[in-house]
Amino acid sequence: MRFDSYKAPRDIAPNLYKLAWRKNRTVRDDLQDSNWTRGLRRMTTMEEMAEMLILESYIRTVRLNDQQDVISWKLTASGQYTTKSAYGAQLIGSYCTFDSKAIWKAKVEGKHRFFAWLLVQCKILTADKLLKRNRPCDPLCQLCHQVEESAGHLILHCVYAKEVWLRMSQETNGLMQVPSTELTMEEWWNLSLQGLNKELKQRTAALMIYTAWNIWKERNRRIFEGIAALPAWVVTMIKEEVNLRNWACGGGELLSVS
Ligand SMILES: [Zn+2]
Repeated sequence: MRFDSYKAPRDIAPNLYKLAWRKNRTVRDDLQDSNWTRGLRRMTTMEEMAEMLILESYIRTVRLNDQQDVISWKLTASGQYTTKSAYGAQLIGSYCTFDSKAIWKAKVEGKHRFFAWLLVQCKILTADKLLKRNRPCDPLCQLCHQVEESAGHLILHCVYAKEVWLRMSQETNGLMQVPSTELTMEEWWNLSLQGLNKELKQRTAALMIYTAWNIWKERNRRIFEGIAALPAWVVTMIKEEVNLRNWACGGGELLSVS
């Protein structure tokens, strides 16, 4: 079974796959009793739970018909095996192409990690995603009302988001930077953390996550509560969350934000 161009459940959720003890069930079997999670041993990590959310979102898109399943070669359009495509397959990584470890090690709460895990893969439910699922919504970014909303635009490239990143850069004496216009989400995540020592990486990743999370919250407040705030206020919210975390974790200066 595969859900999109390359990915099988094992590739989408490698950690979850290790927990599955009923690997030979068909999608139809498990969808019919709506109990597919019964085939999993108990989840213990945040990564496994995040993978379950992602897998579940794929499963919801499945529409069954009465045709028999067929086995096809996934790397050619025709479904026929070719040596060239098999060679190409060796170059396609089935595993994370981004620094996912930095998410799990960042000094943030579980909800932030979930969010970051989805964000870096551009899987947060922005308008472009909702419209693909035929869910009616305003296609425009709610922060600038000028560009169609996607994860990359909303969090990194929107003029509003850039203002928040700029202020955060000033607050952290340049530790954080305004995302460059040409970067994709994964490139932004990887490049911003590349080459940093362990402690600096944890701090930078946490600040990136807090900033992105609060831009996302501002977008949601506008949509669901009809309240709009200026970038400076979002930065105040970020600092409040950071300070709360510092206070809750006692003493150690997790993130130095003035
Ligand atoms: Zn925008």
